[in-house]
Amino acid sequence: KAKAAGRNTYCFFSPEMDAQAHERLRLENDLRRAIERGELRVHYQPQFAADGRLEGAEALLRWQHPQRGLIGPGEFIPLAEETGLIHVIGDWVLDEACHQARQWHLLGHAGVRVAVNLSVRQLQRHGLDRTVRSALRRSGLAAAQLELEITESSMMDDPEGTLSLLHTLRGIGVQLSVDDFGTGYSSLAYLKRLPLQRLKIDRSFVDGIPDDGDDIAIVEAIVALARKMNLRIVAEGVETGAQRDLLTRLGCDEMQGYLLGRPMAAAEMQALLARCRAGVGAAAGVSLGA
Ligand code: C2E
Ligand code: MG
Ligand code: MG
Ligand code: MG
Repeated sequence: KAKAAGRNTYCFFSPEMDAQAHERLRLENDLRRAIERGELRVHYQPQFAADGRLEGAEALLRWQHPQRGLIGPGEFIPLAEETGLIHVIGDWVLDEACHQARQWHLLGHAGVRVAVNLSVRQLQRHGLDRTVRSALRRSGLAAAQLELEITESSMMDDPEGTLSLLHTLRGIGVQLSVDDFGTGYSSLAYLKRLPLQRLKIDRSFVDGIPDDGDDIAIVEAIVALARKMNLRIVAEGVETGAQRDLLTRLGCDEMQGYLLGRPMAAAEMQALLARCRAGVGAAAGVSLGA
């Protein structure tokens, strides 16, 4: 292969490359076994309405690796996508999140939603609607309490296919949201055809609030668009009180971010739900009141 690359091109097989390839292979093998060994975890990050009510939680995947400790999704989801492991992992997350949300409801926290992120690979595989239906059936969770998050860029991979898939999923009764909104290239004409309930404003725009005039203008434009399209707006990555206050004033309906709650283990999320229901949300530092 090095020869085919041409006379003047040399392909070195350096010890570092060797080590990297080994490392990757080991991670892949570890990941294959992670599910059977029960090393994957779903953490939950609370989402609050502008009036301070806890409305839902986003399921965020973690890997409790025996040697490396807790690994975030950014470090292994790309590998899972390349190897196709994302399918078994994605199915597992969906099952886990549905069971968890059903548990919350049985504990009296009726109406709390759970949001699950979908990878482009999951959208591309035939039968996602069947997977979603069976996760709902197995858990007993009402379809309306499950939200599926899809990024703009994964929609644009196959716009027509995604459009028809989303209509099928919406037909089941689940809620649909666009994640990291504003960072992709979907056209408004396309968005208008999607059966969506929510837009999640990407963290990168929230970052510049309240000082950056451009970010304020972008958030205003997204809020205006969402109103016209009858969608709810969620601001992601809210870290400061100043961001929360301005985003509330600009008309964001829901917020999620470190200020209000970090992603946490299921047991902690359950404790947070109990505190919020007891009416001590403000004491727990989760009041959104302006
Ligand atoms: P995302 O869906 O946009 O999730 C939000 C990310 O922002 C999470 O990172 C969350 O921990 C982080 N975050 C939340 N609030 C704040 C904040 O106030 N400040 C900052 N700096 N960050 C905040 P995480 O958990 O590392 O997840 C990264 C991405 O990995 C997610 O982005 C999502 O695209 C993907 N992901 C996570 N879980 C899954 C999964 O089960 N399946 C798939 N396909 N993708 C997943
Ligand atoms: Mg998300
Ligand atoms: Mg996001
Ligand atoms: Mg993301």
